[in-house]
Amino acid sequence: MSEELYDVVIIGGGPAGLTAAIYNGRALLKTLVIEKMMIGGQATITHQIDNYPGFPDGISGPELMELFEKQAKRFGAEFKSTTVKQISTEGKIKILDTDSGDIRTKTVIIATGAQPRRLGIPGEDKLTGKGVSYCATCDGAFFRDAEVAVIGGGDSAVKEAIFLTKFASKVYIIHRRDELRAEKITAKQAFENEKIEFIWDTVTEEITGDFAVKSLKLKNVKDGSTSELPVEGAFIYVGMIPNTDFLKGFVELDDKSYIVAGHNTHTKVQGVFAAGDVRQKIARQVATAVGDGASAAMAAEECLAGQCFED
Ligand SMILES: Cc1cc2nc3c(=O)[nH]c(=O)nc-3n(C[C@H](O)[C@H](O)[C@H](O)COP(=O)(O)OP(=O)(O)OC[C@H]3O[C@@H](n4cnc5c(N)ncnc54)[C@H](O)[C@@H]3O)c2cc1C
Repeated sequence: MSEELYDVVIIGGGPAGLTAAIYNGRALLKTLVIEKMMIGGQATITHQIDNYPGFPDGISGPELMELFEKQAKRFGAEFKSTTVKQISTEGKIKILDTDSGDIRTKTVIIATGAQPRRLGIPGEDKLTGKGVSYCATCDGAFFRDAEVAVIGGGDSAVKEAIFLTKFASKVYIIHRRDELRAEKITAKQAFENEKIEFIWDTVTEEITGDFAVKSLKLKNVKDGSTSELPVEGAFIYVGMIPNTDFLKGFVELDDKSYIVAGHNTHTKVQGVFAAGDVRQKIARQVATAVGDGASAAMAAEECLAGQCFED
């Protein structure tokens, strides 16, 4: 194990983690951000962010995240690409078991966010990357002039369906209810888009195809009728699940596996804080992740100065 001891280790390099890194780096704390995939988190799979203040014309997710990263690096935060598998404590020191060995730190900010929920239907796993996608920003351009389906009726589903109309000739939105959960402004844009057709009260039971998506087998939940919809792409937006598997038994999780943290982001474990989508809260957005990141960083700083909060 390296003898190096960090003041703060931030797990997750999404909006929450990067904001914490800006604050802790700027406070001259020895700060490390650990990211297992791509710096920027979910925001990097969002083609356009229109509701983050400071960008009146909107900004692409990847562009916004590049700015966050640059700012965190400007204040001296270090970055490491690896996965945290477990956290344990040795007195007041926290030991992070990672794919690249153990890392020691006085405080930890957990900002591991969430990942797309899978439908769990036949064909989904086999055809992921072959027409099944969870990221329109990444894969939309492969479907030029094709007919595709978006499964889901929340904000992400509808926003990404609108984005897909840039490429696809037709976008079906398949939703299990008879009304959208998306924000009104987003829903209005979708209703006005001639390339979008809604299939209401319907669930997808199977995705067919051998080497590429061929069709979706659908079932109407009201009358039980079934049908087959030929499409080349299936974009799935049916919610998120928090990345907390590695934390079971370490911090308190709620019944949906989100971290339970106090108003100041502190968990029940002294010196361990939770920020962003990974924690139990109502609004999961870039702006709220940023707020959490700032709160967690300041709480960690106070803890290092001898004022650790406890519930
Ligand atoms: C399609 C889509 C569209 C969206 N549109 C908008 C929008 O328009 N406006 C808006 O405000 N919000 C939007 N959101 C939501 C917004 O992106 C999230 O609320 C925000 O990214 C949450 O930030 P976070 O830092 O908490 O978590 P995340 O962005 O999820 O980042 C967490 C990071 O932690 C990493 N990680 C996880 N586990 C580990 C581990 N064990 N070890 C190391 N690293 C780990 C992950 O790889 C990830 O990079 C959208 C989300 C999606 C999916």
